[in-house]
Amino acid sequence: MQTVPEERVVRRRVGSEDGEEWKKNGGTGGEEWKKNGGTGGEEWKKNGGAGVEEVEKESLMMELTRLVQKMVKESSWWERRGIDCSILAAAFLCLPPAFLLLGSSRLLWFSAGVLLMGVAHAVLTIKGTHLASHGALSESQAWAKFWAVFFIEICGSFSARAGVQGHIKMHHAHTNVIGLGDSSVWKVPFLPRTIYLFVAPLTVPIITPLVALAHLKGHSVALIARTVLMVTLGLYSQYWLLINVSGFQSPLTALLCMLVCRAMFSVPYIHVNIFQHIGLDMFSPTSRPKRIYQMTHGVLNLPRNPVLDWIFGHSLINCHVEHHLFPFLSDNMCLKVKPVVSKYLTEKKLPYQQDSYFSRLNFFFHKYQELMVFAPPITELVGVQ
Ligand SMILES: [Zn+2]
Repeated sequence: MQTVPEERVVRRRVGSEDGEEWKKNGGTGGEEWKKNGGTGGEEWKKNGGAGVEEVEKESLMMELTRLVQKMVKESSWWERRGIDCSILAAAFLCLPPAFLLLGSSRLLWFSAGVLLMGVAHAVLTIKGTHLASHGALSESQAWAKFWAVFFIEICGSFSARAGVQGHIKMHHAHTNVIGLGDSSVWKVPFLPRTIYLFVAPLTVPIITPLVALAHLKGHSVALIARTVLMVTLGLYSQYWLLINVSGFQSPLTALLCMLVCRAMFSVPYIHVNIFQHIGLDMFSPTSRPKRIYQMTHGVLNLPRNPVLDWIFGHSLINCHVEHHLFPFLSDNMCLKVKPVVSKYLTEKKLPYQQDSYFSRLNFFFHKYQELMVFAPPITELVGVQ
């Protein structure tokens, strides 16, 4: 058991309301939601078997869930999944022109090719892998698994199993709980702040497949073989097309082009991953608050930004709070339920944390030691246990 020095514990009193705890939603895209995060037809599964007499005593989370569920049921397939699937398909369709532009001898066309390839790659590997890891791209389990392997392994050069385990089972299930989902995976305390924030992220495309390999240790031969094969397929197909379609003359320039395109959004990628959790309330595994308090105190939204909205997706940018409360909704559905969620949380006097990208960057830059090097303090929310 983890012991926490008294000076690291911050006690904060919040409005208390008794109620059932939303069953920890660490599942693959909403087991408690009974997979109807989009079907609109299935009966909502009452959490914990709450009977009619218990309805009055229902928790804030259940009340909010009902409001969100109603909106999901009233939404079309296009709103629930179609828009996000179309954005991902559009990114995929950008790849052929990008390879052709990269074959141009004119600097302007070549630069346009690099930009198009970088953007398409980022949409597929950030937005695509994130939605696929949550199973938010399809209602069928088999297809959800297929998309997870396609986006995480082929496009993202990572292990689908490790991705789902780390993101869904740890980060989402134990958001900001010390030692479990506290985002410490992103901390590299020995790096100085400028290197960490602006230079080290550029190595993400090289580190990612190596970390994936390390994660495979101890797994079945079949799983290892599949992941190695899929990651190699993704990397080699891009390399092959650069040589054979774009006409790159040397392997070195082709590899350099791959690195530039793959690292184009690595800096904001690392920033976004740390900005939205680190520096907010942290909880002890032994006295964690109820889910709605955990998520509203430990998650922050960034403002809308046309570039990041498209490339990262709303659930990672301006709807991160909504995403942590309802992790199996697609980006577009998170955006649709945002007004209802923010209004509800404000009415119930719960935090709805928002801050701008540059304000967060400034905060991390000036408090780097405290946030990224030292152990974080633990918050105890008094009155909600
Ligand atoms: Zn997520």
